[in-house]
Amino acid sequence: MQRVLVTGGAGFIGSHVATALIARGDHVTVLDNFNDFYDPALKRENARGLRGATIVTGDIRDENLVSRLFTEGEFDGVIHLAAMAGVRPSLLDPLHYQDVNVRGTVILLEELKKRPKSRFVFASSSSVYGSNDKVPFEETDDIHHPVSPYAATKRAGELLCYTHHHLYGIPTTALRFFTVYGPKQRPEMAIHKFVKAAFEKKPIPFFGDGSTRRDYTYVDDIVDGVVKSLDHCAGYEIYNLGESATTSLSELVSIIGEATGEKPILDKQPMQPGDVLITYADVSKAKRMLGYDPKVPVREGIERFVRWYRSRAV
Ligand code: NAD
Repeated sequence: MQRVLVTGGAGFIGSHVATALIARGDHVTVLDNFNDFYDPALKRENARGLRGATIVTGDIRDENLVSRLFTEGEFDGVIHLAAMAGVRPSLLDPLHYQDVNVRGTVILLEELKKRPKSRFVFASSSSVYGSNDKVPFEETDDIHHPVSPYAATKRAGELLCYTHHHLYGIPTTALRFFTVYGPKQRPEMAIHKFVKAAFEKKPIPFFGDGSTRRDYTYVDDIVDGVVKSLDHCAGYEIYNLGESATTSLSELVSIIGEATGEKPILDKQPMQPGDVLITYADVSKAKRMLGYDPKVPVREGIERFVRWYRSRAV
């Protein structure tokens, strides 16, 4: 049994991770501020599902609260998922993204430095690769040109994790997630938004000519990678967690059309600032070092998502 703090544990990925940890007998504390980036009622519902976890409503930037939690919790590990997510909204409020994603991360690291045996798993993002055209992306690739404030905050988080690891010896792993989807996915993310629009027979916002490609990762595969990272956390490592396959926007829309049985209506719009042409993970390091083994191809994952979506609608 491990004592694990999951920040952002009421969110999409966090609630799946917390569920997996509880299922194997870990004691989970969730710290989440239930903000209104999307409907907080969905996060409350996620938190209610975490039977046996300690749920703390609060902000990672509240230094007194964080200090008290660490003292009382004696955590063996921290999985830090709380963040302002999303590329496009980060262009509208870069200061807030910086404050939560960078300052908030340092506040946690400052607590960890007093307990350098606690392991730290940090949720980074494929967006740190920016507009790199060498694919698939490897952890050793150039990551000096983030093209959105969100991406820059995630790269900054990785750097600060390294610095705290270097200075205080905190075992730290940064995980670069590639577009995660599955039940409970954030409602503003493409697959969720497109499935909803398809069922409601509303237009799907379709940016660019449909050729942009994403590496879509089913949430169960991400959870597997996160839990393995916690268990193998030593030194300072960065891992890509993706499916290592890409799907174009046009292909995605057609798979969603087939899975929903609806004919998608497209609302064609230009590419958005901050968007990149492709994300594509080389996951050989995670396979080799963690035994990470993504299993759910995008067609099957979307069918599962649609089943979940339908089950909520009845
Ligand atoms: P999410 O928004 O569903 O989860 C984040 C949670 O953090 C939310 O419940 C939110 O209320 C909480 N939170 C935000 N600010 C907080 C604060 N100041 N204090 C306490 N709690 C706070 O998002 P998600 O999709 O589950 O993403 C989880 C993590 O993974 C994030 O760090 C995100 O940047 C990263 N990530 C996600 C994806 C993806 O495709 N979903 C891809 C790359 C990286």
